[in-house]
Amino acid sequence: MAYTAGGQPVLILKEDTQRSRDREARRGNITVAMIVAEALKSALGPRGMDKMLVDSLGDITITNDGYTILDEMELEHPIGKMIKEAAKTQEDMVGDGCTTATILTGELLKKAHDLLDEDIHPTIIISGYRKALTRALDVLGDIGIDVDLVDRETLRNVAQTSMSSKAIGTTAAKHFAEIAIDAVMQVAEKRGEEDYVDKDNIQIVKKEGRSLGETELIRGIVLDKEVVHQGMPKRLENSRIALVNAPLEVEKTEFDAEIRIRDPTHIRAFLDQEARLLEKKVERVKESGATALFCQKGIDDVAQSMLAKAGILAIRRVKESDVENLSKATGAEIISSFDDMDAEDLGWAGLVEERKIGDDKMVFVEDCKTPTAVCVLIRAGLERMMEEAERAMDDAISVVADVYRTPKVVAGGGAAEAELARQLRSYAVKIGGREQLAVEAFSDALDVVPKTLVENAGHDILDTMVALRAAHEEEDGHYMGVEVHTGDIVDMREKGVLDPVKVKEQAVKTATELASMVLRIDDIIAATKPKEEGAPPPGMGEEEEEEF
Ligand code: ADP
Ligand code: MG
Repeated sequence: MAYTAGGQPVLILKEDTQRSRDREARRGNITVAMIVAEALKSALGPRGMDKMLVDSLGDITITNDGYTILDEMELEHPIGKMIKEAAKTQEDMVGDGCTTATILTGELLKKAHDLLDEDIHPTIIISGYRKALTRALDVLGDIGIDVDLVDRETLRNVAQTSMSSKAIGTTAAKHFAEIAIDAVMQVAEKRGEEDYVDKDNIQIVKKEGRSLGETELIRGIVLDKEVVHQGMPKRLENSRIALVNAPLEVEKTEFDAEIRIRDPTHIRAFLDQEARLLEKKVERVKESGATALFCQKGIDDVAQSMLAKAGILAIRRVKESDVENLSKATGAEIISSFDDMDAEDLGWAGLVEERKIGDDKMVFVEDCKTPTAVCVLIRAGLERMMEEAERAMDDAISVVADVYRTPKVVAGGGAAEAELARQLRSYAVKIGGREQLAVEAFSDALDVVPKTLVENAGHDILDTMVALRAAHEEEDGHYMGVEVHTGDIVDMREKGVLDPVKVKEQAVKTATELASMVLRIDDIIAATKPKEEGAPPPGMGEEEEEEF
């Protein structure tokens, strides 16, 4: 890329750099965002269709979970990658609403495109959108319905609403909702005035089973491991727990050592010596008073039988994350050498037990000293169902946790978006000037949520949208939304279709920020061509040269 300064061409970028600027760059980017959003639209809501995603290795995922779809789509274009990152933020912050956020981003950009055509500067659009966002967050606070956290019915509705778009069926969704609520309640802790939920304390483990109905909540930790030796106890009550991240094996020398034994009696002596070393370690375990040993590394066969003889339950090669969770739950210190083992390092659990789950054995550590860690054991017949079930459970846990953190919900089925749109329309008039147009565009963009829900359910879009708007003009019309099964406009509170305020807040925030970010870009400088052959993606046209 060459510039000229004083008649001399100055090369400031590599020769094959691609560059596109201003209108071209912006429009290209907007188009990409709109295409990605369009692709997700048919997945929104309970009547959303599934996508079959085939990755480069041929593995198949079937889902209509927005985040999973974006994550599996191998998006090459930088804007596609930005959308994916934004969806990840949405997922990390609130665990739901990714499809909504992406569709809204696409719509905000589509409306911005029209404004650009009317020669409205991107800066004006961005500041108008920002004002609209601030107002939208206020309105969400206003229309949010306060939730009493002991009101299980509301939590159940929120959980079920989040799972209504997952292909697990209503019976399983009901069962999952109860588990999600119990799990969150168990791990919730007070931090100052707030109820804090650390989702990392809720482990999700999957194991093949007969049906989703077998899915259960374990108040403790589950290890996908079995007790190492037949002769060991399989069930221990009141267990003192040792966590070690060193091997219970004879240490191998760092270098290759060759031991020449000429006399057969020496073999015996050598093996005896090894056994003595192991015995010393096992002796330390016994002396500490431990009854269960969780070892992050291997346990030698000889040591296994010594432990068994001592009546100690042992598990080897436990995952590091599991060892850490065990430490948190049982209060045991993780020690790095058997020589250091001491009674003070031990933790405690009411029950350690190996159980047969499906065709496998798993070890359950329950009734722990600090019962703040739980595990949801998901059971499903089909591998594919298991994955979808995990996503459903994850959504349910997320939304219940969201309500715990901010105890407010809004009506779903497009009710909250329709109300936001209505209130923003009257707010726009107060803004005036060109920014008013941007605020109006923002408000129109919000309609995409109810519209898409209606479209996916196969109802008449125009009629339903007119009815929805009219309903919101009525007194106390805040909660009117689209009942997707009938296409009627009803009070969503009565239908129990409720979304956490936190999810909606994050979705409008994510969408506004992402749309603004895309609008702010007026120059794309790509170091290498995105594709060797074929047409460049939109907005990455031929190199332009400029002269000063
Ligand atoms: P997201 O990834 O944005 O969470 P979903 O596919 O989970 O997308 O759909 C969420 C939307 O579906 C929310 O707006 C929610 O209110 C709506 N929804 C859920 N259940 C119903 C229902 N029974 N009737 C109407 N809308 C519903
Ligand atoms: Mg959802």
